[in-house]
Amino acid sequence: MIIDGKKISKDLVEKVKDEVSKIKKNGKSPGLSVILIGDYAPSQIYVKNKEKLAKEAGINSEVIRYPKEISEKEVLKKIDELNDNSEISGILVQLPLPSHINKEKIINAIKPSKDVDGFHPMNVGGLASGTTSIVPCTPLGCLFLIKSVEKNLEGKNAVILGRSNLNGKPMAQLLLKENCTVTILHSKTKDLKTECKRADILIAAVGVKEMVKGDWIKKDAIVIDVGINKDNGKIVGDVDFESSKNIAKAITPVPGGVGPMTIACLLKNTLECFKKSNS
Ligand code: NAP
Repeated sequence: MIIDGKKISKDLVEKVKDEVSKIKKNGKSPGLSVILIGDYAPSQIYVKNKEKLAKEAGINSEVIRYPKEISEKEVLKKIDELNDNSEISGILVQLPLPSHINKEKIINAIKPSKDVDGFHPMNVGGLASGTTSIVPCTPLGCLFLIKSVEKNLEGKNAVILGRSNLNGKPMAQLLLKENCTVTILHSKTKDLKTECKRADILIAAVGVKEMVKGDWIKKDAIVIDVGINKDNGKIVGDVDFESSKNIAKAITPVPGGVGPMTIACLLKNTLECFKKSNS
């Protein structure tokens, strides 16, 4: 089975849209502000897609664009303004940032209740301690995809390839919450193939083109491929799709798997932030 991330994300956006239209009937509206610094092409594309989908869902969205020379102080000032603006439910600063801007300082400046990316230490801590918090969009999207195949994940061996703050670590927290037995692998892991082969659920988030081969996968595993890698003008994942698709019970394609879910979850998080600040 190929997990259709486009369809599942579309359904999620529809749900967000329904809720937003109900909110709008009461004269209110969730608002998302995206700060985009510089002209890094992939960021321009992501932000354009985010803006398009936010509009489709009826969420007021604005993109604040700065040249790459903008000072850290100016960006922090803008974040302060947005933190105080009651029309804005969610703030996102598109990463990566130019080298003269401190990423941690920027993330920490965003009000935790408006941190739609879930990167603020308060939200990271909330997820780790199991309290309600905003969950980073990509791992949240992965969880939706896994659950589209299997609802009850209790006791499953979940193996996550990659330990980034963006993907691997929050993914592990989400799967622990689902009562999985979780293993995280990284560049210093001794035998990646053997570890991957134990997985009932395998999530690959390394950024290495088609690293996971079919013979790394346990029969009937659920395989989620987060990777986005360029290969002769094509986009490919961290999993070798061709050799894996007949071994896995379910697998996400690249593109069309995790990618669309990330943006759909951003809209969901914006709605959640709005609901929390208006409850
Ligand atoms: P990252 O910050 O570079 O982290 C990569 C992780 O993979 C690290 O933990 C690293 O180990 C591990 N790793 C790298 N090479 C390895 C190897 N040869 N063997 C074992 N482990 C290895 O990457 P990221 O931000 O998590 O992104 C991962 C991939 O997901 C990228 O392709 C990125 O473009 C993609 N991505 C996709 C979406 C989406 O919406 N679909 C969103 C975000 C990211 P160490 O910690 O030991 O260095």
